[in-house]
Amino acid sequence: MAAPVNIIVGSHVWVEHPELAWVDGEVFKISAEEVHVHTTNGQTVITNISKVFPKDTEAPPGGVDDMTKLSYLHEPGVLHNLAARYELNEIYTYTGNILIAINPFQRLPHLYDTHMMEQYKGAQFGELSPHVFAIADVAYRAMINEGKSNSILVSGESGAGKTETTKMLMRYLAYLGGRSGVEGRTVEQQVLESNPVLEAFGNAKTVRNNNSSRFGKFVELQFDKNGRISGAAVRTYLLERSRVCQISDPERNYHCFYLLCAAPPEVREKFKLGDPKSFHYLNQSNCYALDGVDDTEEYLATRRAMDIVGISEEEQDAIFRVVAAILHLGNIEFAKGEEADSSVIKDEKSRCDAKSLEDALINRVMVTPEEVITRTLDPVAAVGSRDALAKTVYSRLFDWLVDKINSSIGQDPNSRTIIGVLDIYGFESFKLNSFEQFCINFTNEKLQQHFNQHVFKMEQEEYTKEEINWSYIEFVDNQDVLDLIEKKPGGIIALLDEACMFPKSTHETFAQKLYQTFKSNKRFIKPKLSRTSFTISHYAGEVTYLADLFLDKNKDYVVAEHQVLLTASKCPFVSGLFPPLPEESSKSSKFSSIGSRFKGVLEAIRISCAGYPTRRTFYEFLHRFGVLAPDVLDGNYDDKVACEKILDKMGLKGYQIGKTKVFLRAGQMAELDARRAEV
Ligand code: ATP
Ligand code: MG
Repeated sequence: MAAPVNIIVGSHVWVEHPELAWVDGEVFKISAEEVHVHTTNGQTVITNISKVFPKDTEAPPGGVDDMTKLSYLHEPGVLHNLAARYELNEIYTYTGNILIAINPFQRLPHLYDTHMMEQYKGAQFGELSPHVFAIADVAYRAMINEGKSNSILVSGESGAGKTETTKMLMRYLAYLGGRSGVEGRTVEQQVLESNPVLEAFGNAKTVRNNNSSRFGKFVELQFDKNGRISGAAVRTYLLERSRVCQISDPERNYHCFYLLCAAPPEVREKFKLGDPKSFHYLNQSNCYALDGVDDTEEYLATRRAMDIVGISEEEQDAIFRVVAAILHLGNIEFAKGEEADSSVIKDEKSRCDAKSLEDALINRVMVTPEEVITRTLDPVAAVGSRDALAKTVYSRLFDWLVDKINSSIGQDPNSRTIIGVLDIYGFESFKLNSFEQFCINFTNEKLQQHFNQHVFKMEQEEYTKEEINWSYIEFVDNQDVLDLIEKKPGGIIALLDEACMFPKSTHETFAQKLYQTFKSNKRFIKPKLSRTSFTISHYAGEVTYLADLFLDKNKDYVVAEHQVLLTASKCPFVSGLFPPLPEESSKSSKFSSIGSRFKGVLEAIRISCAGYPTRRTFYEFLHRFGVLAPDVLDGNYDDKVACEKILDKMGLKGYQIGKTKVFLRAGQMAELDARRAEV
């Protein structure tokens, strides 16, 4: 948003600061476009007027609990307000009916205890301090009173606190809709305990977060007509499969591997496990232990959670057997075979039917229209085959857990209303970005669009209520990025799917096709010198993607040899993960694109300043700006008329007067303040 132009000598302003982001100060000189500011940290800053933002000198020192109460809705104003509150351990702030949470990075038990839940139960929204419970309460009341289903969307970047927030929301909803006094495993208990189970298998330490969710999650809580939780469904999206066999320092693989290696001795003995450092899938990084986390305790906690969720002893055993098998599989190495482009397994130590494993790993059957050829793989390709097998097994195991949780909690077919909670990863931009980031950022682009529309609708409702004319409200639209990605035909996903169908395509031909198709698209940039990367100009910034593995990663198929091996497993749990495919598809690799399956995951959060960012009740307005027109105040007008007269006198254009509030355009509040400073 452009800075307002009504900055005068004596104005209190914010200016950008290289370390502090923003610092406040007072303007002492203005020459043409240049503003000279004495900052409160003792510096003199000279900057362009467009980079200076007015500071609200009347804002309460502890900040305001709702951003819409801010006089100026610009970046430094918003950040300053959040910082002032955070200072006082107030981690929550509203923006209208949206909640902003800032990670406290410390446990705040009193903030979430039973007493707190009691307080928020049924309280009018906005009456108590901003809280995640208040958001859940609104959703629950809407369901009880109006029979409305709702979804709560939690978004933010990695480590922001989405998953913790999701768990608080679920706890509160379980408190409202639970069966107090009922003994044993209740639906709500199972729902809550599904979290540690999914986290053990789907979370990992990353550079950003020691407990980073590597999958998206939508939990649907189903309620009966009395408002009691009667069922639940968990849906997960896009588990990061590559992590199973590839990690970089100082990250970790999925938690389950480490906690199993720290299991009691008899368990480790049974699965022939020892030091995590001895496993290739774990020792690619030097990080094994996490601060403040005892993996042995985590192992026991995970098993307890599995008990509650309804996973039997035998099933738990089978699950951990598979986890152990993946670690052993990763240790298989290959040497060159006698024939060219072939390989053999080095000193055989793995614990399964060695011959069939070897066959599955070092051979590949090719089906051509003319014949079926068995081709051998060289050691490098055999490693690729081994890793693909590990990823396939792990992701099937994860899906199995999700299915099991759903069937064990049970769905309520008679439920009429649901409350959904979406915990989805935020926008990602790294040095190297691949298909995973592409999918994640695409989802966020979708969420952004949904949010824009939601805020737009909300604004419209407020304007309608106040009976003001809202026909000329413009809002930021990211439809062009979405078209670039998902348009059918012709978008990036469609072109990728097309490339995956043609056996001859490579990542290079795919990239060329993109360059050709989007050469004049302003959201698409071809980086100079690159032959396989492309840049998308997202709403949140530019991200450059490496197309190299897009084709492979988009093809979500199981190699036929692996399928045969696993279907024939003597372990019924494993063969159960791989039911035989129908005759037709087992011969060729079945193709189903991940990119296209990822479409439609919905919804989320960010602030918009479109329309009339500042609104004040007539009383507040007169209190603040009455000094601009003492004659009006003395005139005995009713509040609404008095406001109108003041605005008129100031010569402002484009504002609106509602039934109870004045609606100002961006910058008008600053203008009025500047006038007030002159009085
Ligand atoms: P990712 O996208 O990587 O999954 P996330 O947004 O889900 O990240 P969380 O795992 O919820 O992030 O939070 C990261 C860490 O921050 C938590 O492990 C916890 O230590 C701390 N944290 C977050 N929110 C809170 C909170 N409300 N109270 C106390 N600690 C919190
Ligand atoms: Mg998370």
